[in-house]
Amino acid sequence: MAFTRATAQLAEKLNDKLTQATGKLTEATEALTEKHRNAGRATRTRVGLAGAAALAATGVVGAVATPAIAAPEGGSSAYALGFVQAAASGDTIADELKAQARAQQRLADAARRAAEAEKAEKAEAKKAEEAAAERAAHKAADERAERSAERRAAGGYVDPVAGVDTTTTYKQAGSSWSSGKHSGVDFPAATGTPVRSVGPGTVVTVGWGGAYGNQIVIRHADGKYTQYAHLSATKVSPGQKVDGGQRIGAVGSTGNSTGPHLHFEARNGAYYGSDFNPISYLASKGVDV
Ligand SMILES: [Zn+2]
Repeated sequence: MAFTRATAQLAEKLNDKLTQATGKLTEATEALTEKHRNAGRATRTRVGLAGAAALAATGVVGAVATPAIAAPEGGSSAYALGFVQAAASGDTIADELKAQARAQQRLADAARRAAEAEKAEKAEAKKAEEAAAERAAHKAADERAERSAERRAAGGYVDPVAGVDTTTTYKQAGSSWSSGKHSGVDFPAATGTPVRSVGPGTVVTVGWGGAYGNQIVIRHADGKYTQYAHLSATKVSPGQKVDGGQRIGAVGSTGNSTGPHLHFEARNGAYYGSDFNPISYLASKGVDV
């Protein structure tokens, strides 16, 4: 993170500065010691050294202190002045440190604000993404509804039980069927579920069909027939005109049936044995089941 890096750099820089200053100060005091010893002012020098050591020990002697210490040329007043200046510089450095602390605080505040802003931005982006996904889902649903409406308008064909997939394939082998082959496809659904005519046509048969139980057969305009079997109820009469999607009966388990489902056939004629692939027939009308 930017804040940690900046702080580390600042601390390193400050430390370097202090080390450098302390080194220079040591050099300077050594030079002074020599000078003052030569000048016979050992006492003053010791005081000066003690003062310098104290300043160095406090850790507030920075680079700016060095010129003051290093320029005590010409005796005690200048030397004393040097320490006054050093002390003053020490105050300056203390101020500088305070300023640096304030700067660090500002950095921390800025980092916190940046993190908060980033968090808020991310939340905002997520919200926008979710809204976009929702809009896309609605659009897809609208398009599906539109396509479905177009299909109905064009051919008027639908699946015989809304929203149910077949559990068997056409011509599937099985002992349940008298021919040994399944003559239609099954749509499993609860008893009472509406059964609808897959397309517009005329009802030709309503009644008991032996193994088929209660059944309905409808003739369509293209000359093909559809059969609906094992019904629990029938709601149309022979000769009646029906629309595609019109409710004609209800799912049941009448006749030779192991459980509630609609048995559905497409036929070339009204009677058993003229069946052809009902899935292909519905597909030819634009209906996928
Ligand atoms: Zn069946």
